[in-house]
Amino acid sequence: MSRLLILGAGIAGQTAALHARPRLSRKHEVVVVSPNSKWNWIPSNIWVGVGYMKAEQVTFSLAPVYKKTGITFHQAKAISIHPEGDSSSSKPYVFIGHTSEDKLGQTEKVSYDYLINATGPKLNFEATKGLGPGKNSLSVCTYSHADETFKHLEEKIERMKKGEEQTFIVGTGHGQSTCQGAAFEYLLNLEFVLRENNVHDRAKIIYLTNEFEVGDFGIGGMFLKQGGYITHSRIFTESLFTERSIQWVTQAHVKEVTPNEVIYENFDGEEKSIKDDFAMLLPPFSGIGLKAYDKNNVDITSLLFASNGFMIVDGDYSKKTYEEWKPSDWPETYQNPKYKNIFAVGIAFAPPHSISKPMINPNGIPIFPTPPRTGMPSGVIARQVALNIVDMINGKYSEPKRKASLTRMGAACIASAGANFFKGTAVSLTMYPIVPDFQKYPDTGRDLKYTSGEIGLAGHWIKLFLHYAFIYKAKANPLWFVVPE
Ligand SMILES: Cc1cc2nc3c(=O)[nH]c(=O)nc-3n(C[C@H](O)[C@H](O)[C@H](O)COP(=O)(O)OP(=O)(O)OC[C@H]3O[C@@H](n4cnc5c(N)ncnc54)[C@H](O)[C@@H]3O)c2cc1C
Repeated sequence: MSRLLILGAGIAGQTAALHARPRLSRKHEVVVVSPNSKWNWIPSNIWVGVGYMKAEQVTFSLAPVYKKTGITFHQAKAISIHPEGDSSSSKPYVFIGHTSEDKLGQTEKVSYDYLINATGPKLNFEATKGLGPGKNSLSVCTYSHADETFKHLEEKIERMKKGEEQTFIVGTGHGQSTCQGAAFEYLLNLEFVLRENNVHDRAKIIYLTNEFEVGDFGIGGMFLKQGGYITHSRIFTESLFTERSIQWVTQAHVKEVTPNEVIYENFDGEEKSIKDDFAMLLPPFSGIGLKAYDKNNVDITSLLFASNGFMIVDGDYSKKTYEEWKPSDWPETYQNPKYKNIFAVGIAFAPPHSISKPMINPNGIPIFPTPPRTGMPSGVIARQVALNIVDMINGKYSEPKRKASLTRMGAACIASAGANFFKGTAVSLTMYPIVPDFQKYPDTGRDLKYTSGEIGLAGHWIKLFLHYAFIYKAKANPLWFVVPE
């Protein structure tokens, strides 16, 4: 009997668990450890943040899904990994702390034969003074953050209806934040809602970002096919913003958020600030802070995790200049080099470096996006890793055979630009590969046959359809597996 232990029940963890369970006989166990009782389709939090959906529409309870699929679920958070066991047993285990009401405060050792770390990001609001819910800015990273953001938005709309002018800042709350796509979506949805409420003319909307230029999205920008022409994503994005009277400030490292001001340092090292009434700023991400210990209880966290807290896998982490970066730097099997039965998928794995060109200002402050790992690659990687582990458990192979490098993987992304069944729009983007390969595609880094971008109403319909399809799949409803990652 083997036990596959999966830490995290987000997009990656859920995908891995659902793919592994039916491929393993019942003598093997699939165990998921995750602190929340609910699953959240995070991309639709954007719509919660503008009132298009309620939190209940983007979440569901995990326990019944695991019960029907035969997956053991501990509502708990992983605290430390013990890949060599301890003085009482050499069996590897993860030390967990329960979070459910009935077991709150209890701890437990959960042993494993194979471990998948799918714990996603820590939303590192502490990196910037005054950043985040409960402090001076808003977020849409969780459904409860998004719910709170919508309440603030409603209040601002009411003020504008009474004749007040309001300044909205949407973007990144730190020089090293990622997930610009989410900020971009919230920005365009906010603008749409203000228009729908006939208060747009009383609003000043500013996109504040750590990107060197808009349209970088943490993937170094891209050339894309649009309406038969090749356009750079900067032009595409600037044009969308101009059409919507959105101003933008790039190359900004936000260093402090006060109740009515965002203070940032720019690429020239100057300190600037913008007064605001509403700031939705995404935090930087780090690993969730798992620790690791060897059999003698010696701290070996640095063997498993990079300094940013993400898990070390089979990437090339040696220090290199931008010019030296190669596609082969990126991991393929997501296996930890020291402990071969440990893998990391989704946001939890440590990227070897950023995708956007690193930029550092004269004061030594890095101002560039760290690499995004969106839903589709997170799911694809999770499936491949789960299938590799299944093959190893079933004795088919002794090492992972399937590979899933971001340098040989495409992605499709639909960014909502306004949610309404008749008047809404979304930007549909495809790219191949996700990480540009300038050896293979010297001019653009990507294959223009598969790299495109269009905006239109059909995009909104597809985004809405995908919302229901991905929740259907995550619930493991009949034929869930026909919905791709
Ligand atoms: C607002 C927003 C909008 C987005 N929109 C899009 C989009 O339109 N398209 C797209 O492709 N991507 C989008 N993304 C990105 C997408 O959400 C991520 O790529 C995806 O969630 C990553 O999956 P993951 O499983 O790695 O992490 P997550 O989905 O964050 O899951 C991590 C899991 O680990 C659990 N966990 C945390 N700590 C512990 C612990 N100590 N022990 C055990 N478990 C733990 C969490 O509770 C969670 O279940 C968006 C992201 C945000 C924030």
